[in-house]
Amino acid sequence: MHTATANCQAAEFLPGDRLAVLLPLPLAGVYDYLVGNGQRLAAGDFVRVQLGRGQAIGVVWSAGGTIEADKCRPVIERLDQVPLPLPSRRFIDWVAAYTLAAPGAVLRMAMSVRSAIDPKPRQRRAAPCPLPDWRRPGLALSADQAVAAAALRRAVGGGFTVTLLEGVTGSGKTEVYFEAVAEVLARGRQVLVLLPEISLSAQWLARFAARFGAPPREWHSDLTDKARRDTWRAVAEGAAKVVVGARSALFLPFRDLGLIVVDEEHDASFKQEDGVIYHARDMAVVRARLGAIPIALVSATPSLETRTNVEAGRYRRLHLPTRHGGAKLPSLQLIDMRRHGTARQSWLSQPLIDALTDALAAGEQAMLFLNRRGYAPLTLCRACGHRLKCPHCTAWLVSHRSGPLGGGSATERLRCHHCGYSSPLPAACPECRAADSFAACGPGVERLAEEVAARFPDARTAVMTSDTISGPRAAADLVDRMVRHEIDLLIGTQIVAKGHHFPLLTVVGVVDADLGLAGGDLRAAERTYQLLWQVAGRAGRAAHAGHALLQTYQPEDKVMEALVSGDADRFFAAETEDRRAAGMPPFGRLAALIVSGPEATAVDRLAAELARRAPRGADIEVFGPVAAPLAVLRGRHRRRFLLKTARTVPVQSVLRRWLDQIRPPSSLRLQVDIDPYSFL
Ligand SMILES: [Zn+2]
Ligand SMILES: [Zn+2]
Repeated sequence: MHTATANCQAAEFLPGDRLAVLLPLPLAGVYDYLVGNGQRLAAGDFVRVQLGRGQAIGVVWSAGGTIEADKCRPVIERLDQVPLPLPSRRFIDWVAAYTLAAPGAVLRMAMSVRSAIDPKPRQRRAAPCPLPDWRRPGLALSADQAVAAAALRRAVGGGFTVTLLEGVTGSGKTEVYFEAVAEVLARGRQVLVLLPEISLSAQWLARFAARFGAPPREWHSDLTDKARRDTWRAVAEGAAKVVVGARSALFLPFRDLGLIVVDEEHDASFKQEDGVIYHARDMAVVRARLGAIPIALVSATPSLETRTNVEAGRYRRLHLPTRHGGAKLPSLQLIDMRRHGTARQSWLSQPLIDALTDALAAGEQAMLFLNRRGYAPLTLCRACGHRLKCPHCTAWLVSHRSGPLGGGSATERLRCHHCGYSSPLPAACPECRAADSFAACGPGVERLAEEVAARFPDARTAVMTSDTISGPRAAADLVDRMVRHEIDLLIGTQIVAKGHHFPLLTVVGVVDADLGLAGGDLRAAERTYQLLWQVAGRAGRAAHAGHALLQTYQPEDKVMEALVSGDADRFFAAETEDRRAAGMPPFGRLAALIVSGPEATAVDRLAAELARRAPRGADIEVFGPVAAPLAVLRGRHRRRFLLKTARTVPVQSVLRRWLDQIRPPSSLRLQVDIDPYSFL
């Protein structure tokens, strides 16, 4: 095994040539093989090869390396499959080099559907799919939309460019980038649209189908094996014209990609936190550059990173300053909970109750937002104060009282939101043996729903969280019921904030606006601003004026002030200055190193070893090791380092030199997180 990068030289390999094959294995680089008799192979071909005593499927990556020809085994066969295109191969190399993941681990993401690449005979035929029709007319655009759409259309076919499409919530950004999609389709090329939480995006899918007369291809974790297989092949063959997907769709083998759109580009769920750790928005920009195609980043609240790139002239900005169809942005009001407060075991202040009452009386809809799943985030013993914790993680157990699909019949269960551990409420306190001594502390959405039911017994309510929504269909059903006004009051976590359009929704109440500010990592203020602005933006999107009420104990916090003033630019300017002064991203670079293992002593020993060999130098700082905030996760002890450097420092080679000196025992794991978003 050695390393090699994809290249376009050596167009063809003939019998007797040595070539390097990349295998989709977690630790692998390339392996050398010989072209067998009668074979003609080219870079990108999928091939079956011998590996140890078994066989494996890999991709011809480049000319062979250092292994002598007589020690190489011949390629068994070339698979009847469209070769992996050069931009995809170069992308895999790029992502591996940037994230410090093994190229084989990245290739594995591109080859996630084994049966698509090496199908059994009965799996070969894919059902034909209707194609989106770009000739259909789009909706009438406002003047602002038309200008932006024309600019995006012009970008199509013009090589690599990055465009930020920024528009207030409800401004019709989707219709604008649909015009660019139509342009790409007219040219016969493919489009990739990345959406966070694609499984919740039924409304987006419906709008797409209405615009183009056929649905796009979907790519996310809720698909059947057959759908994955069909889509993977259709993408490789060029038959799938538009793919809408989660971050992993970036690794699909597009035959002729002509445009990438990253919708809600600021969304933190674009960061993949397991396996190969990468940020899909950032990698999408790289993929566009490698494919020499335009990319559009779309948001009502662009990330600070993207804003900085616009300011530096690296990205272009198109702006939609007003809502579509004359709808007004919602009024935003802070409720100072230090003055108003709530009754015991109650979470709604009087002003919010009044606003909800008025909306319901007027036959309008309301939404309550609380970013906490379950009934209560903490359960403690009233007798001794003992808190119920997960046996495998540094985390409290969250009480859940409703059934798996939101039914109220299930008994109380305690669940760990980090590892999935679940248990019934114990009969007695494990610490002091007191019986019936447990008290639920604080509200989750289920508990909030209890209060709503008591206060508004006639209102038809529903709870929308990842616990009550079992998949795309359940999400679509709930959204439909809301649109048809079969629900008066929707209670939900962050999944209600995402892109939904509810014309009759006029009041949005944020129960605990301060929730995201605790913990205070680098992006806490920015993320809280973005989330609350998105939530508030659900209100008043059609003929009725909208109101958003935010309950806060910190009304003077910069985030709350920015939300009320509506002056996003000033808020982001201040945040940007803070980051610049502190040398934080995007002005400096961060990388996290996480050591984990089943035994604390072994983890500490390795962490100490890493600390001794930590890189030093101008513009390089290493913090740690420290116990991670999630010091134990799934039974593994965790220690963190944070590497902070100037932008000019090649952080990957610094890390590589550091880690090359260390041979961790197999029970321990070393994870590298370049540009970390989570600090847990
Ligand atoms: Zn107790
Ligand atoms: Zn746990």
